[in-house]
Amino acid sequence: MLLFTPGPTPVPESVRLAMAEPTLHHRTPEFEAIFKETRELLFELMATDEVVMLASTGTGAMEAAVTNLCHHTLLNVNAGKFGERFGKIAQAHGLNNVEIKHEWDTPATADEVVAALEANPDIDAIAIQISESAGGLRHPVEGIAKAVKEVRPDVMVIADGITAVGVERIDVTHIDALIAGSQKALMLPPGLAIVGLSNAAVEKIGEGKGYYLNLASEIKKQRQNTTAYTAATTLVIGLGAILKQIKEGDGLGKLYCDTARRAKATRFALEALGLHSYPKSPARSMTTIDDVNAKEIRDLLKTDFGVNVAGGQDHLKGKIFRINQMGLIEPYEMVWVVNAVELALAKLGRRDYDGTASRVFNEEYFKSMLKKEDA
Ligand SMILES: *Cc1c(COP(=O)(O)O)cnc(C)c1O
Repeated sequence: MLLFTPGPTPVPESVRLAMAEPTLHHRTPEFEAIFKETRELLFELMATDEVVMLASTGTGAMEAAVTNLCHHTLLNVNAGKFGERFGKIAQAHGLNNVEIKHEWDTPATADEVVAALEANPDIDAIAIQISESAGGLRHPVEGIAKAVKEVRPDVMVIADGITAVGVERIDVTHIDALIAGSQKALMLPPGLAIVGLSNAAVEKIGEGKGYYLNLASEIKKQRQNTTAYTAATTLVIGLGAILKQIKEGDGLGKLYCDTARRAKATRFALEALGLHSYPKSPARSMTTIDDVNAKEIRDLLKTDFGVNVAGGQDHLKGKIFRINQMGLIEPYEMVWVVNAVELALAKLGRRDYDGTASRVFNEEYFKSMLKKEDA
């Protein structure tokens, strides 16, 4: 069965093997050397001033960012389950929260964020997804962050990049906290989260807030290549292995480029079948299709064609399906996925099978290769 859910994503064999080594004690020079190397590779990936790894899933990093960077009122953008979660975290910690709510296909705008800041002077942090995985939606976070800093430079910008870091290069100029998680674009098992921080964020954190998710304790220890509590040693080793493999291979630039090409070719192939791409601004992390037969298509993909894709949640349950684009995915696997969707549509009597999906995918993906040389 091909795993094509937007998290968890398949773990490459080389990484699985790296993680099969006997467990190291975390307070040893051997592990500290691995931690240091992984941390240095993370700085290249995140491009932030500071970076910490947390033994938690992505939600733990979301909580750490909110509690350490928001002291009064959080503005959160809710255009899906993960954006909604930021608001719930704020409420759970007794913070005020102002929410901008959208249908799950609609990106936030800088204007509405600035208007919310002007209407609520108590807001001291904003939290938003770069890629909102609930509907495969890309929010224009870099532009929003810039607009926020123009009107309120003191407001901390928290960007959930759990399905964006490792997918595309993120401009962190105006971002104070950039969050990543192990089991999505970083191709690892679940259990490790990463927070990249700006110098301004480190300053605001000060002594930190909370206990386990106190970012000040982690910053202090991780600058010395160790962790406040037991490190997720195996996952740190895995993270080092995947980042090294990317670096020593074709590099992050090639990974981002291949992901963009694949996501675009997949969308074109499915649209050529008459299917509709759900988000008004699609993220590159996944291809999201809304369709009356979404459930039937997803079931057929699994039972007849060996492909596991994700469905929708809440009001989109049974109404969308989501195909992962994150990680090191071979184009021949994606060709099979779009072809399987076409076969499923044929089985449902929706259209005659004629190989359109794989043809369009190949034409788009290999466009530069197929182009005739200019004389
Ligand atoms: C998966 C995901 C999360 C939550 O991560 P967990 O690891 O399940 O805690 C948060 N934000 C986005 C955008 C995600 O895709």
